[in-house]
Amino acid sequence: MRAHDLPEALGKETRKGAPAVGRPAIGRPELQPGHPSAPSAALALQRAIGNTATTRVVEESRHRHGAGSGHGRTGAGAAASGTPTVQRAPAPGGAGPKEEAKPTEWFNATTGKWQGGQPDPETMRPAHGGERLLLKPKLEAEYAAKHYTDVGQVPVFKARAYRRKKGPGPASTGRSPELRMLDRLGRLGMSQIRPEGTPHLATSVMPNGRLGIAGNTGRSHVTGAERDNVNQELADVQDESVEPYGQRRMDKDLHKVRAMQAGDYFEGAYNRPQLGAVAKALKNPDWSGSGVGDNNGGQPGSQHGEMTLLGQHIADWKANPRQREQGMKTVDMGGVKLACAACQWAFEAANQFIGSKYGYRVAASGGHGMLFRNWIMPKWLAEVPEARKYVESKIKAKAPGARFYEGSSGALVLYLPKDYKSADADQDPAESESEWEPI
Ligand SMILES: [Zn+2]
Ligand SMILES: [Zn+2]
Repeated sequence: MRAHDLPEALGKETRKGAPAVGRPAIGRPELQPGHPSAPSAALALQRAIGNTATTRVVEESRHRHGAGSGHGRTGAGAAASGTPTVQRAPAPGGAGPKEEAKPTEWFNATTGKWQGGQPDPETMRPAHGGERLLLKPKLEAEYAAKHYTDVGQVPVFKARAYRRKKGPGPASTGRSPELRMLDRLGRLGMSQIRPEGTPHLATSVMPNGRLGIAGNTGRSHVTGAERDNVNQELADVQDESVEPYGQRRMDKDLHKVRAMQAGDYFEGAYNRPQLGAVAKALKNPDWSGSGVGDNNGGQPGSQHGEMTLLGQHIADWKANPRQREQGMKTVDMGGVKLACAACQWAFEAANQFIGSKYGYRVAASGGHGMLFRNWIMPKWLAEVPEARKYVESKIKAKAPGARFYEGSSGALVLYLPKDYKSADADQDPAESESEWEPI
């Protein structure tokens, strides 16, 4: 991120600095003997109910206590979980005549070695599904010799690379972790956009599983060079050898993305497959169909990035309608800024008149309520009469005299009367309170 740094682009950030809500930093609570999250209990739990479930139980107890109950992070108590006891295997059903050897070791997925004693919860966390899967052949070959009766019973732990040092707070509510992560990727990518370039980058996990990124088209379109720099930036973000930015907000985003990549973010409330899809998508950005270099023929008019990505999703919705019993699928549309009023209404129309037919909905971070001149109504919207009418009537109610005209490219372009003035609103989503740090 250093070689192609554009410090001046950072100056574009217009956020007013969210008020720091007075909330003490909350570390991971110390673990106590007899506590559900004490390591010996964790091992027992793990054997009893499997690793994924253990992660959840351990984390739930952490969260319950973490919310201001005054547990410190360091505390000798973390290690004082009692004498390293020999682990008791679940009693064999029939209480046979001779006692079987009990498992005493757990598997360290970071070193690839078996270890005795208790894993230190400050530095080790339970491995999750994908991480266990990678180890399956090794564990399959070795679990019996370690006196486990089933490979699923083996406690597997991995060294933490990142830990939460603060939060999460109330600002996080309402937006899913994956949506917030997509917003972060948009912001980090935005560092590579020239000051007069696109004011927005939209981000979404596309139907092909890749990370869709799109800026606005028109005068401030994304150039090929910017696309390449954003891709390089996102590669740097994943490269631990590339140093942080030394800029508070950027590093806050960076550490969370890296915590996700390291697997440390996937605990408790964040243990979601949708977030895993974001982590996977990040490895493979996709700008095809994103309007890179599209200056709208030099004419006034700009299709906003989120409309461009949503159009690709909608094409997929139509090609792959979901059955009622499959339930609604939510598509997350992240990005740098809150949506403008027109895009927000377009999201609503997409859900109400298009997504509902096919079993999908789009979720975004909310709108700032302002209209922008020369907003291009995307084709997917213009061709659905009820959807188009919905958006048009909302716009006309907000800005009397507003109308759409057909530009030379055939796109419908928003004309706003000269006296329409948009109020100055904060265009950035609320900053989440939680913070992560490398260990
Ligand atoms: Zn407690
Ligand atoms: Zn917009």
